[in-house]
Amino acid sequence: MAFFRKKKEIPVGLWMKCPACGKMAFTKTVEEKQNCCPECDHHMKVNGPTRAKQLLDEGSFEPIGEELEPKDILRFKDEHSYEDKLKKTAAKAGVSEACTAGRGTIGGIPVTLAALDFTFRGGSMGVVVGERIALAADDAYERKAPLIVVATSGGARMQEGALSLMQMAKTSATIARLREEGIPYIVILADPCTGGVSASFAAQGDVTLAEPGALIGFAGPRVIQNTIKTSLPEGFQRAEFLLEKGYVDRIVNRRDLKQELQTLLEYLAPNQASEPPTAETAEAAS
Ligand SMILES: [Zn+2]
Repeated sequence: MAFFRKKKEIPVGLWMKCPACGKMAFTKTVEEKQNCCPECDHHMKVNGPTRAKQLLDEGSFEPIGEELEPKDILRFKDEHSYEDKLKKTAAKAGVSEACTAGRGTIGGIPVTLAALDFTFRGGSMGVVVGERIALAADDAYERKAPLIVVATSGGARMQEGALSLMQMAKTSATIARLREEGIPYIVILADPCTGGVSASFAAQGDVTLAEPGALIGFAGPRVIQNTIKTSLPEGFQRAEFLLEKGYVDRIVNRRDLKQELQTLLEYLAPNQASEPPTAETAEAAS
């Protein structure tokens, strides 16, 4: 007698488990909810191309720096070579690096977007990630278009050593140029945003938005706790805690993010949104 029935085969990818509440959900439903859990609204990690799709007007995305591919310059090897790891990750992820950059529009307003991707080697910043961010900032500078960066990362790419640390200075300097020209720069901090990324371009936004519950900080809470030998306040380094402390300007649910960006862009780049106000229209409006 068979006491145990054979489990029904579930097609791979049809269902997924929420990492926060542990409940199962239809992958399609999760995607329709912009990769948020239908049960607990946990904001799941999304890759660069999905971010571009969620934030930009349909069909408006034109990639920047897509031809750049990471190289194993230091011939780094632990259990496996860095080169092998990169190949495997790229094949699985369908993208060549942890940053997707490009031009597009939001509500018809031209913007340049760079989105980091935590699912690709922890969103770590190596030479190509840094270069794509810098190219996006250069593009924004040349076109005088607002720059939007989605920052989620575990930090610098260990396998690229000092070359990866250099990206902090490079991205920061490229982005600092935008301020001189009054070009708006909006940062969206997504879970988690730590290490070298949190200490460079992710900290330079004119406006800093964060997704709910995102962990944001340089070193992780465990490292800090072990170093200073004291317990940390509840919710330490979470977006909500940092909003209270003034580091984050606003927490925005992913489903409202595109609209929020459009509203901000209309304030920050009114010349791009419509005709610039003249003395007469400004007077008429007052
Ligand atoms: Zn959930």
